[in-house]
Amino acid sequence: MERLIFHKDFKYKHFTSTILSGDLKDKIVRDEFLISQNLNPNNLVLANQVHSANIEIVESCNYNSFVDNCDGLITSDKSIMLGVFTADCVPLLITNGIIKAAIHAGWKGTYLGIIENTIRIFKKKFFVKAEDIEVYIGPHIRSCCYEVGKDFENIFNLELKNNKLDLSEIVFNKLKNLGIINIFDISKCTFCQENYFFSYRRDKTSKRMLSLIF
Ligand SMILES: [Zn+2]
Repeated sequence: MERLIFHKDFKYKHFTSTILSGDLKDKIVRDEFLISQNLNPNNLVLANQVHSANIEIVESCNYNSFVDNCDGLITSDKSIMLGVFTADCVPLLITNGIIKAAIHAGWKGTYLGIIENTIRIFKKKFFVKAEDIEVYIGPHIRSCCYEVGKDFENIFNLELKNNKLDLSEIVFNKLKNLGIINIFDISKCTFCQENYFFSYRRDKTSKRMLSLIF
């Protein structure tokens, strides 16, 4: 079993930690892990993650900090590493090779438009074309396990199958509709694969995996 996983077709530097690397929300564990991967913890920028659709553009003054009141970070600074913590929500790593973003997309942030907000910044602020953007979809709770109430049919304007929400498909379709072609879904479910991933729903844990783009 590996300490981290990655998508072989997403050609930019990235990974998601597994349960073997421990709770990377813990700073001591995280710093040790990053150093073991030859990465400098001081170059990491994280969002405090409040289930919003807010994105912040970050620079080197944000080094080694949590940015308040947002669930997505974007930077053009190549020395910065961007991270997102998850245990069931969808971690998205987005880049054209120059601009990069790390996004926390739970159902709420997805509903509120975090994916649209992120891609708008790529296009409008950084003049990146949709066809040049590549997206990594990390491990999250998938339609096999994500049981929700009937109210989600109205929230996402869809019909649930067996009371299960397919957040993967919702995220994928949003990206497609925004013109993105290169979408790399690692196709792993956090809830099913208990030897690999923390799952908030399964274990009510506060422990988190880290998805990183650098
Ligand atoms: Zn599952």
